[in-house]
Amino acid sequence: MTSISPYFTPGVLTRNMSRRVCAAAGGRGRDRDRGSNLVKNPGGRWQQPGEGSGRPVCSDAAGQPGGDSVQAEDCAPTNAPRQKRGRLQASSKSTKATGQAQAAVLSADETNSKWEPKDWREQWNNIREMRKVRDAPVDHMGAEQCFDKTAAPEVMRYQVLLSLMLSSQTRDHVTFAAMKKLRDHGLTVESILKMEDKTLGELIYPVGFWRSKVKYIKQTTAILKEQYSGDIPNSISELLKLPGVGPKMAHLVMKIAWNNVSGISVDTHVHRIINRLKWAKKETKNPEESRRALEEWMPRELWSETNWLLVGFGQQMCLPVNPRCAGCLNRDICPTAKNNLRKTNPGLPPSSLRQPCQQQQ
Ligand code: SF4
Repeated sequence: MTSISPYFTPGVLTRNMSRRVCAAAGGRGRDRDRGSNLVKNPGGRWQQPGEGSGRPVCSDAAGQPGGDSVQAEDCAPTNAPRQKRGRLQASSKSTKATGQAQAAVLSADETNSKWEPKDWREQWNNIREMRKVRDAPVDHMGAEQCFDKTAAPEVMRYQVLLSLMLSSQTRDHVTFAAMKKLRDHGLTVESILKMEDKTLGELIYPVGFWRSKVKYIKQTTAILKEQYSGDIPNSISELLKLPGVGPKMAHLVMKIAWNNVSGISVDTHVHRIINRLKWAKKETKNPEESRRALEEWMPRELWSETNWLLVGFGQQMCLPVNPRCAGCLNRDICPTAKNNLRKTNPGLPPSSLRQPCQQQQ
């Protein structure tokens, strides 16, 4: 039987309770951070639902990284007079039942909020151990290594943004080489605005989707010049308005360029690994879903480490195809290790899959 919280008084809802009940009723006011409800508008840009529609937002952390953002109309009754009549006509029995249902929702929600993956701390520490050498491509060619550390702060930030725009669908060494060519050529807002599209294309080739990236870089740079005095925005919502900038990049830009951890940056490596380790309550379909799932339970102090740690682990050990489970310290506590080992060693008897990892290498 579900217990009712001693602090719960039917009819008196705190902001959080209101939001949870609202979410349980199918509303959009779930406990999510500012970036979690992002949708693409018809122009292909990321934005909050209702952004630009003039709908008021009731947020208790507006402008704060990771703050909740709930549409006011999601919280407010949509048909207040009818609800009021309904309440007046309701019997004391139904009122009590409603109160119990709300309490049950809250109780279940509070239980769910405590969910965390089995063995995740041990798995996390094992990954840290496997990553302690820091010799993955991301360690020496990732976005933190692509900008000129002697440049003016706004130039460094611009270079961070550009390296991340180039990095999507592109291997680190290709992005790194393109950034080097751009920097050698002079990589500032002014130099890119003066540069011919053809020259820019030649400099960034062969990064993935280089033709589209030429267009996005030019458009974004013009916006930075006009609206941000040549600097880059310092908020997720503003970064996501820039052409060619998605949530994964925006959170990394916030961290590297502004030293502000606004969320977990989830790319395909992180997305794949959290599903293999079952670090989400249910399988996630894309990196954005994975980000929301991770941020629900992962301690905030680990957010800034997650991308670096898991990307390198995905590049060296937990590969997209044929992960190196035999040599992985997590092989005995990874939910998918056995399946992977069977796929990569179809001839091995089940008992041999339990041998210490060193003997499998
Ligand atoms: S055991 Fe295999 S699937 Fe699991 S984390 Fe290690 S490499 Fe990845």
